[in-house]
Amino acid sequence: MTPQERMIEEQIKGRGINGSGLLNAFSQVPRQLFVADGYRSRAYEDAALPLGYDQTISQPYMVGLMTSLLNLREDDDVLEVGTGSGYQTAIISRMARSVCTIEINAQLSDRAQVILRSLGYDNIQFEVGDGRLGWSATASFDAVIVTAAPETIPPQLVKQLRSGGRMVIPVGVYDQYLYVVQKTEDGVKRDQQTAVRFVPLLDSGCSSK
Ligand code: SAH
Repeated sequence: MTPQERMIEEQIKGRGINGSGLLNAFSQVPRQLFVADGYRSRAYEDAALPLGYDQTISQPYMVGLMTSLLNLREDDDVLEVGTGSGYQTAIISRMARSVCTIEINAQLSDRAQVILRSLGYDNIQFEVGDGRLGWSATASFDAVIVTAAPETIPPQLVKQLRSGGRMVIPVGVYDQYLYVVQKTEDGVKRDQQTAVRFVPLLDSGCSSK
């Protein structure tokens, strides 16, 4: 078994995360390309790893859990806030129609763009900026995933969810929980999930009001 196959068996399937689309995506995407130089040999460990700039590439299990909570369909358009290494972006791009991804750190965004383009993943659009403001004013998405934690759910991201859409987002400062936000014709429903630990979603100071 390769380290990648073992990661999928033990950290993903072994912890109850399934679904053929998700497991296929995890076997297609080479995680060692996304970790920082010097950490290649640890790419399939059960851990978050440093990316530089005080940021981390999320633990494989957390990528699996958040992706499975998104309940993606093949024709979904997805917004990701916090491109980081681009690994989560890559997984989603294999499972959905399109991914729009926003990163506040231009160097991290550039690095992720180079890797994702070299892999030939051509359904991804990149933006450098404050993701709490969402994509362009008129954009809307079937799914939104946020990979850094705000204090409260940014209203602009809820606004950009289509009816029937889902958002997975860590929320809180010291005590953080993962939330699934669902938008239906009847309104917006928030479900608290497990306790988590993410880096803070940075505030550019721009107001979304
Ligand atoms: N899914 C990524 C997680 C990276 S960590 C991975 O596994 O690699 C979270 C990322 O969110 C960091 O790269 C950080 O720079 C970015 N970030 C923080 N605040 C942000 C904001 N307001 N808008 C967009 N990106 C932000």
